[in-house]
Parts: sequence; structure tokens; C-alpha cells
Amino acid sequence: MVIARHSLDDRKRGFVMAARVGSSLIRVLVVLAFTSCTAEPGRAQAPQQSANKALPTVVVLATGGTIAGAAASDVQAKYTSGQVGVEQLLAAVPQAKQLANLRGEQVSNIGSQDMNDEVWLKLAQRVNELAAMSDVSGIVITHGTDTIEETAYFLNLVVKTRKPVVLTAAMRPSTALSADGPLNFFNAVAVAANKDAAGRGVLVVVNDWIHGAGSLTKTSTTAVQTFLSPQSGLIGTVTYGQSEFYRGPVGKNTMQSEFSLTGVKALPRVDIIVAYENMDGALIDAAVAAGAKGIVIAGVGNGNMTQAAVNALAKHAKAGIACVRASRVAVGRVGRNVELEDDKLGFVASLDLNPQKARVLLRLALLKSRTNAELQRLFGEY
Ligand code: ASP
Repeated sequence: MVIARHSLDDRKRGFVMAARVGSSLIRVLVVLAFTSCTAEPGRAQAPQQSANKALPTVVVLATGGTIAGAAASDVQAKYTSGQVGVEQLLAAVPQAKQLANLRGEQVSNIGSQDMNDEVWLKLAQRVNELAAMSDVSGIVITHGTDTIEETAYFLNLVVKTRKPVVLTAAMRPSTALSADGPLNFFNAVAVAANKDAAGRGVLVVVNDWIHGAGSLTKTSTTAVQTFLSPQSGLIGTVTYGQSEFYRGPVGKNTMQSEFSLTGVKALPRVDIIVAYENMDGALIDAAVAAGAKGIVIAGVGNGNMTQAAVNALAKHAKAGIACVRASRVAVGRVGRNVELEDDKLGFVASLDLNPQKARVLLRLALLKSRTNAELQRLFGEY
């Protein structure tokens, strides 16, 4: 028998307290279904309450992740992402309604390890549509932490608005003891509702810190304080809804971005290959054989790789494949023509972008054909 600890009030509060549901996750799913979890993608949700005209309106686009995750107990590592619907996310943090009128839409409900182009294109389109609406002041996107830096950077390059677009996430599922999702969500709404957040590009709010989409990266597999902006620092901080902004983002974004998804149905394939001791060219050749139009090497050190890998990469660069050197090292810039002669080899240096963000930029860049010099310019500007 399912022993659920949530009374009707708990359900209204949202994030399902599944602490005593026993060992079976299936039981949790039954409980979630019972509490009318409206997690179907693409389904627009009604406003939670009649709008307060004194408050800005913030639309919440839910995509899944641990912030919407559930476990069979409040003290276990095993859980499933994307189990709680947007209505429950909103209902779980009633305090956020003091900051803004909230409307929720379920774009997807997946672990962000499954993030994909279909969701990205849908999300970008919806953000652009919402941002164009005069009654919408800001947008919050709930997301998994695994790939939030890629989605944020992608949106940073393709949404056309000065309005705040704020992604948030959680490291602990909604059912966990000390879940971090509710306060992260509250803070994200506060930033999205704040006029001072406008014009700073797409932002990510997690654990009281406001990151730029280009600068943040996940640095710990499990720690709540996983996100850092190690190279260029924070955009600001937010403490129980009180924001402090220090600066704008590094790199062109949103309104200044030359990238547009108008008419785009698919993005070109770009693969990331990690460099290592004794590497040969087999994986590089395999990527090209699989249809990659670009390759990002997560190189050792300052974007280095074995001579065998250099040879393979240079061969493909000569044949027109875009070849970018990034680094598997967490912090630091990959410079042009340092130990490798990029000019001679036909390579592009990723500069401040880590491999996963270099891949995002390269995919957008390759929507049209570009010379290496043009690609290098983009890596310098974005
Ligand atoms: N795997 C989860 C996700 O990215 C992790 C998280 O959200 O923290 O969806």
C-alpha cells in the first residue's frame, strides 16, 4: 500500500513530499499521477490566480531536471529527473507570487542529459514569442544541471530580447531533505522580475549566484555549490530575492547576436572529442565519417593533442571540416598559435569557451559556410 505523507495541503504546496512511500519508485509515480501532475509537454497552463496589476508577469517554462525530480525517500541518492509538473513547481513556492504574476508552460519533462535539438528549437521559439509580448516582463526556465550551461549559452545566442531570461535548476530532487530547488526557483523569479536584470544576456541563477550564460560551468557532480564562473566571474548575487548586479556578461549576446533561428529546422552535427595520452586519429576520423561538419577537441592543457591527432585533425580541416581546439582543463583560455600553429594547420582556438560551449557556437556558426578567419572572429566576439 502507498503510504504518502502529503495531505491535500501538501499537494497544494506542490513539490510532492514522497518521503514515506516505501522503496518502490513506481509507488512515487502513482502518487504523482494521483496528485494530478500536469507534466505533459507543450501544454500551456492557466495563471495560478488573478493577476495583480502592480506586479510584473513572469512566464515559467519547465523542461525537467532534478528540480522536477523525485525519489522514493528523502535521504537517498537514487532518483528520477523530470517527474513533477510545472503546476506543482509553481505551487511549491507560493512566496514567488509576491514577486510576480506567474504563468507556467511545460516544454518538456526530461533529465537534461537527454536535452536535444527538438527541445532547444522549441524552447528558443517560445522564449522569443513570449519576450515579444508586452505583458510579459521576464521568463524563467527550469532545467537540469547537467546541460544547463549549454542550453543557456544556446539561448544567449539566439533569443532576441533585452528582457530577463533566467534559467534555474537544482542539485537535489524535489523530494529530498534540504531540496535546493524551491529557493533557487524563488530567486530566479526575483531576478526575472527585476528591471535591472534586463540587457545582461541570458542568466543562470543557482545557489544565490547570478551567472552569465557564457561563463558558468558545472564543477561538481554532486555538490549543491556546483556552478562557478571561473574565468570571468559572476554577474551578481541574489539572496532571498534581493539581487545585486555587478556587471554585464562577457561576449555578444541576445540583441547584438548575429545568429537567428528563423527558418532553421536542424542544426549541423558537431562532435566533441577528448584528448588523452597516446591518442590516435581514429575517433576524429569516425566523427567525420558519422557526418560531423565540425569537431571540437577537448585538448590537454592549452588545447594540445598528440601529433597523431593533430595530423588527423589537420587532414579534415584541409577538407573543410571546422576544427576547434578547446581544453579539457576546467579553467583558462585556449590561445591561438601557442604550441600549435593554428594558422598553418587550419584550426580555430576556442579562447574562453569550454568544449561544450564551443560546440554550441560552432553549430550556430556552421548554419552558413565560413572561413577559419570568420570562425575565429566569432570565438573572439561571443
Ligand atoms: N541529471 C539531472 C539533469 O540534468 C541532474 C540535475 O538536474 O541536477 O536533469
